[in-house]
Amino acid sequence: MQRLALFDLDNTLVDRAEGLRRWAEEFVAERRLDIGDVEWMIEADGDGFVPKEAFFTRVRERFELQDSVEDLWARYRSRHPRLIPPFPGALDGLGRLRDAGWRTGVVTNGFADVQMSTLVCSGVGDVVDGWAISGAERVRKPDARLFAIAARRCGMTLSDGGWMIGDSASADIGGGQIIGLRTVWIDRGRPWPGELQQPDHIISEVTDAIELLLTS
Ligand SMILES: [Mg+2]
Repeated sequence: MQRLALFDLDNTLVDRAEGLRRWAEEFVAERRLDIGDVEWMIEADGDGFVPKEAFFTRVRERFELQDSVEDLWARYRSRHPRLIPPFPGALDGLGRLRDAGWRTGVVTNGFADVQMSTLVCSGVGDVVDGWAISGAERVRKPDARLFAIAARRCGMTLSDGGWMIGDSASADIGGGQIIGLRTVWIDRGRPWPGELQQPDHIISEVTDAIELLLTS
């Protein structure tokens, strides 16, 4: 099998949850809100899956803000990606894969500007061979076309196989399985959803997934 490793971005290579916490702490400090409101915002964010318009409508109402939902969202879009750190050891691990002859790519769902900023600010963009962002390509995981674009930018084709590593059971693992990739699910402490086909491996840290690839 060719040495192609495709990775999800948020909560796989980078700690989006930690970035959100940092953003919420900044927001609370700037607006002189209660420190307990950080936890409320993290809950309301729904791990990033609550649409931002709905999220900021709730934020605006709860804190009785004068800012429009659009303004709150715009400021968040430019600031939050800058606060998202790579997971410890992730950049080094990607470099080791490259040194060992692997091609590495990112396949991510999200807005083009936000994901691009996350790639650049976290440093991930410097150590992978290519990426495909759903907002830029107008196709979302688990659609095979987004994986194919990422593979092509790595100079490879999906038909020669490879690996997909991610924390979403349906988008990352389901998507990878459809196109015949081997899969590693980053569990983040969650049980595998029983109704779905099992991934090849279930692992807690992306660095352990990289170690697995290096010894496979
Ligand atoms: Mg993810």
